[in-house]
Parts: sequence; structure tokens; C-alpha cells
Amino acid sequence: KGARLRLPPWLKTEIPIGKNFNRLKNTLRDLNLHTVCEEARCPNIGECWGGGEYNTATATIMLMGDTCTRGCRFCSVKTARRPPPLDPNEPYNTAKAIAAWGLDYVVLTSVDRDDISDGGAEHFAKTVSNLKERDSRILVECLTPDFRGDLAAVEKIALSGLDVYAHNVETVRELQRFVRDPRANIDQSLSVLRHAKKVKPSVLTKTSIMLGLELREAEVDCLTLGQYMQPTKRHLKVDEYVTPEKFAHWEKVGNEMGFVYTASGPLVRSSYKAGEFFLKNLLK
Ligand code: SF4
Ligand code: SF4
Repeated sequence: KGARLRLPPWLKTEIPIGKNFNRLKNTLRDLNLHTVCEEARCPNIGECWGGGEYNTATATIMLMGDTCTRGCRFCSVKTARRPPPLDPNEPYNTAKAIAAWGLDYVVLTSVDRDDISDGGAEHFAKTVSNLKERDSRILVECLTPDFRGDLAAVEKIALSGLDVYAHNVETVRELQRFVRDPRANIDQSLSVLRHAKKVKPSVLTKTSIMLGLELREAEVDCLTLGQYMQPTKRHLKVDEYVTPEKFAHWEKVGNEMGFVYTASGPLVRSSYKAGEFFLKNLLK
């Protein structure tokens, strides 16, 4: 990489938040939209809503309620065998609200609804088509369940008018049974992604995996995450100054993954307050 990075703002002043952020925040209240960004207190909200370098404001909306029929071991969403029924007006109302909100890119995601015959695919697809009818310019990504491998359900969404079809495989094959709900597996997830691409080749397909699970699998107990600082000009350059918010987020993720403790921050080193953490977490 080229020149050395400049000192990041959190070492000097407060982090500036783009004007998009304030605009979106102020208009959200009246729209009755539930964003994952706010509900999960996502540390990236300033960047995503702010629009970043390309001025592309992104937010994630959760459809089909707040209760999932599955129980993945990394996820904090609440679980029930029979969540409340779908709101039939949601596809219309959500599309209307998103279009009014003035986003550039929206991620529509949902809980898994194994209690509904098509897993909610029709409902999901209707939301996309309603939204695209109102605002053909907005880019839409759907982050969908696996629909238990029901390819007709996948097809409904792939043909709904979306731009990106996302479904997360979450982890590697070796770890799937420790991490995901028993109804999910990588072959089923890959068949979802493969089918979406096959029925609509112009749609981008996308997946995500979480790093760091191997450490828990090897029964590592404690984790520290810190910022690399270039000790002298002869050493490797800093590629990125990770924000304190991101460090806080990864600390929370580490705690949720079951490490005895996770210490995470720009100045954290593997020995950082090691005694204090040990006492605080092991003798409690
Ligand atoms: Fe966080 Fe995703 Fe919302 Fe960005 S779009 S703030 S990463 S939840
Ligand atoms: Fe969470 Fe999705 Fe798993 Fe449901 S299916 S528990 S929402 S990760």
C-alpha cells in the first residue's frame, strides 16, 4: 500500500457524522420502520446511514416480525415455535415507508418462518416488487432464510426485481453443526445460492461467513483484539485504523460467542489489564 495512514480522528477529535445520517434519523420516527441498524445498535450506523465515499446511504430492515422459528447459536433474536402471524399489509407499508425515507440501498432481511408454508417468500417478494414500483432507482438486497431448501420459494424472491440475493452460509462445513440451527446446512444453503443465480443470472449473489469461531471450537478461552501500530518505518505499515466502535462491537461478539473474556480496543494488547480481566472474569 502507498502512503502512511494519517492519525485517525478518535485520537484527536470526535467522529464526524455525515448529513445523511441526521436526515435519515430525523425522518425515521414517523415511518414505523424497524431497522436492524438501530435495534442491534450496530456500530456501523454512522458510516452506513451517512453514505460514505459514494454517498450511498444503506440501512437494513427486518421483515416478518421479531421472533424466529430457529435458534442459531450465534444469534440473539428471540425464538418461538409459532410466532405471531404475518401482517398482510407489511409489504405495502414497508415499501411505502422505505421509498419515502430516501435511502439509496436497502437490505431487506427476515427471521426464519418455518411455520409458514412458503417460509414467507411471497411476502418478501411482494415487498421488493412494491418498493421497486415506487422507486425504481433504489438498490435492493434481500438477505433471505434457506426456506428449508424449497427452490420454488427461492425463485419467487430471485424474480421479484431485487438487485442482490444474499444468503449466509455463516461458517465452514466442519463447524456448521455446532453453530447453526440443525435445520440449516451448507449444502442446502449452497443450493439456495446456486438456484437464485440460475433463475436470474443478472442478479448478484452474496454470502457471509463469521471468522473466529475456530478459536472457540479449539476451546480457546480468552481473546484480545488490538490495533496494530507501526513500530518503526522499517516495519509493516498500518493498513487501517479500526474505530473504537468497531472494537466495542467485536468485544460484544466475542462475549456472545462464549469466550471467558474478550478485551477489544485500539490500545488493547495481549497483556492489557491481564490481571484485572483474569480476576474479574474468573473469580466472579
Ligand atoms: Fe449495521 Fe448493516 Fe445497518 Fe450498516 S446496514 S448499520 S452494517 S445493520
Ligand atoms: Fe437468528 Fe436467522 Fe438463525 Fe433465526 S435463522 S436464529 S434470525 S440467525
